[in-house]
Amino acid sequence: SAEEERPAGREQRLTVLSGPSGVGKSTVVREIRALHPEVWLSVSVTTRAARPAETDGVEYHFTDDAGFDRMVARGELLEWAQFAGNRYGTPRAPVEERLRRGQPVLLEIDLQGARQVRESMPDALQVFLAPPSWEELVRRLTGRGTEPPEVVQRRLDTARVELAAEKEFDATLVNTSVRDVREELLALIGISGAGSAAL
Ligand code: 5GP
Repeated sequence: SAEEERPAGREQRLTVLSGPSGVGKSTVVREIRALHPEVWLSVSVTTRAARPAETDGVEYHFTDDAGFDRMVARGELLEWAQFAGNRYGTPRAPVEERLRRGQPVLLEIDLQGARQVRESMPDALQVFLAPPSWEELVRRLTGRGTEPPEVVQRRLDTARVELAAEKEFDATLVNTSVRDVREELLALIGISGAGSAAL
């Protein structure tokens, strides 16, 4: 496996992919999951309800408030945030375990979470995913069709503020094409010969 080919004892760097909701982070991450299993994608815990296409344990671990409270109280989350009425967090142990084993780890989290990781793991590479334009972000958030209008409005309000956070990041990728962003992100992570032929 990819893990066994790596020299033992070499800690890998953590990469954080963040940016406004609706910018396409999860699409990029989905492609990397399918094409580059050597990159370990953290599976977050959330109190949000699963969308129809989501599977528990794949996109998220779905839990309730009590379950989330328990993880927070036990210090089991590397970071967590409240976002649009729900809570999201990164389980700490699997991330630390993969890094120790020398596997590159990618977190797809919101800006509050990115800030917490910046504090606790300053060596992590912080990448901001930006929309091609504000109009395009509105179009994507409105067109998703999976959330009620008031939820979409709340996400738009948040996104407007979040766009200003770009300057806190080590690198910005503009999401004009998922394929380009995927390849640029893999290059930043240090995966060479990324799978441009595959899609
Ligand atoms: P969604 O509900 O659209 O799947 O995610 C909403 C927002 O939560 C997105 O910006 C996503 O990146 C963020 N998010 C997902 N998982 C986590 C997490 O573990 N921690 C934090 N801080 N944000 C997360």
